Amino acid sequence: MPDRQPEPRIIEADSDRAPAPDLARAVCNVLAAGGLVGLPTETVYGLAADATNPHAVARIFAVKRRPQFNPLIAHVETREAALRHGRFNREAERLADHFWPGPLTLVVPKRADTPIADLVTAGLDTVALRVPAPPLARGLIAAFGRPVAAPSANRSGRISATTAADVVEELGGAVDLIVDAGPTAVGLESTIVACVGAQPVVLRPGGVAREEIEAVLGGPLEVERSVEDRPAAPGRLAAHYAPATPVRLDARSIEPGEALLAFGPDLADGAEHAAAIRNLSPTGDLVEAAANLFRHLRALDRTGAVRIAIAPLPSEGLGEAIRDRLARAAAAR
Ligand code: AMP
Ligand code: MG
Repeated sequence: MPDRQPEPRIIEADSDRAPAPDLARAVCNVLAAGGLVGLPTETVYGLAADATNPHAVARIFAVKRRPQFNPLIAHVETREAALRHGRFNREAERLADHFWPGPLTLVVPKRADTPIADLVTAGLDTVALRVPAPPLARGLIAAFGRPVAAPSANRSGRISATTAADVVEELGGAVDLIVDAGPTAVGLESTIVACVGAQPVVLRPGGVAREEIEAVLGGPLEVERSVEDRPAAPGRLAAHYAPATPVRLDARSIEPGEALLAFGPDLADGAEHAAAIRNLSPTGDLVEAAANLFRHLRALDRTGAVRIAIAPLPSEGLGEAIRDRLARAAAAR
């Protein structure tokens, strides 16, 4: 990615009002074309992309220079829209009723027929959903008509952007359009509650206090340790998707019974004997590879191969996150 980016386009708007038709059109055009929008919610400025377009979602990781594919929150305009993507148990319904729209994210089992891309959920069978409060953000998502993936609009490892100027400073012209609605109201990330097992669990503290959630649920809430170092213990939420089939990294040749996850035009030696082949990107494009990663892994996992051999991948750009995720898949065995 070149260091010098063109200036992003900025459109001013009022958070408390539904978007003007011109603004809605501009935002929808960028999102529909697979572009990125700096979108102010009540928590922080999000780096928004069409959650159903894996290439657009891959660009989020590239622009943030995130070294890992952690799952992203899908933002929707209403509770009804959220129900199309996830299955809500009684606690999830109660929390949605009480806190949406607002700074609470619910992690729930993902519906099999949701169009949300695997890269958004990092291949997990759960999905994080939120209905943001500001009429501006909600109106833009409603106008687009599809869920919007949006982590904070800052480079990886830096503090979240809470003004349009922060977004420009962090990401510059890598964002196609920034909606400037002034400083965000909450300035903290959303609280994340998983409603997946028998008991709801707080995955991340944030804009809604735990006490408020406990008051609604009528009991104490468990707080999960860091999502990143959480062990994938039985009954717990798996932090990372891992294929059931063993994985072998940096494979330059294929062993009997192996399936091949290829990258680039040159296939591993013996590829013609592979049980199955999927290529992350025949042209060697890392953004395309990221967009295909979880879909291809899942497909090879279903072939009954003895192992998935993974071609060597470059470690620059999105290659770092792809390699990180594959290394975790290999280590999970
Ligand atoms: P951000 O979008 O940067 O505010 O971060 C989203 C947070 O939600 C990350 O900490 C993710 O790990 C967490 N998250 C999103 N989806 C899931 C999921 N399906 N299961 C567990 N955690 C999730
Ligand atoms: Mg962040």
